[in-house]
Amino acid sequence: MSAAAEPVGLVARILPFSAVDGPGNRAVVFLQGCDFDCSYCHNPETRAACSGCGACLAACPAGALADSGAGLPPRWDQARCRDCGACAAACALGSSPRARRLSVGELLGEIERYRPFLRGITVSGGECTLQPDFLAALLEASRARGLPGLVDTNGGSPLAARPRILAAAEGFMLDVKAWDPAEHRALTGADNAPVLENLRFLAGRGALFEVRTVLALRGGGPGGGETGGAQEGAFDLEGTVRETARVLARAGSRARYRLIRYRPYGVRAARAATLAEPDPALAERLAELARREGAAEVFVS
Ligand code: SF4
Ligand code: SF4
Repeated sequence: MSAAAEPVGLVARILPFSAVDGPGNRAVVFLQGCDFDCSYCHNPETRAACSGCGACLAACPAGALADSGAGLPPRWDQARCRDCGACAAACALGSSPRARRLSVGELLGEIERYRPFLRGITVSGGECTLQPDFLAALLEASRARGLPGLVDTNGGSPLAARPRILAAAEGFMLDVKAWDPAEHRALTGADNAPVLENLRFLAGRGALFEVRTVLALRGGGPGGGETGGAQEGAFDLEGTVRETARVLARAGSRARYRLIRYRPYGVRAARAATLAEPDPALAERLAELARREGAAEVFVS
């Protein structure tokens, strides 16, 4: 009887070293595909799957893309690629031709030479839980090689229904983008009920390594409003931070709570115009609120 085929995943990018995606040096694996459409997404080309239309071929200044024919994604020559982003900019879907189908073995083979310098891996996206079999197999195989794996998730898929991922993961990093459902939908296009369910579930299991909230204000839009600037308080940041911290405190979670000041770098221009940066003093007031509510470790970045 032949062995079962190794799961294959659609991988947007592999970052061999990161010191900010979990404890210690970690390789970060970004999977392609996301079910949220966040206004402040910094890697929007990881959201949609490539349709193979070929429109990006002519945009590449390095000859790194070749037609695969038959509506398949272009062939990408990694050695030639200058990482200029012109292909993603030319894509009407906002996708990228650089996502690759890799087996678990192929992916781990690409980070093997860095293994002595790594504490683990972090699997991010896109949204990595949308490829659950591949994610579970990757976490299991990586751990077997001495590299435990964190899962960085938008929380849109109920993790209580994913026992294999729960068993294989070292821990979870979860975004709580807004406590209010209407605000969450405005920011992400998605319901936050599964996110809050995951927050409570993972906090109760002691499985959360980090929770993140991006602190963004509503922007005035291009020339919009009388001031054209930020409208502090238009999002209920206080409510989001307070309620999230309360869940962590009630569960006795030791998770870090990271408040990330929104910055427009890499954000789609039309979306960036809808948001504005909070000033550092507001971020610090919110961090103090989270501490008062009992979150174990709170910091602003
Ligand atoms: S990345 Fe976009 S433009 Fe390029 S082939 Fe795929 S769908 Fe077409
Ligand atoms: S990022 Fe895209 S357009 Fe730029 S060199 Fe690489 S493949 Fe070509």
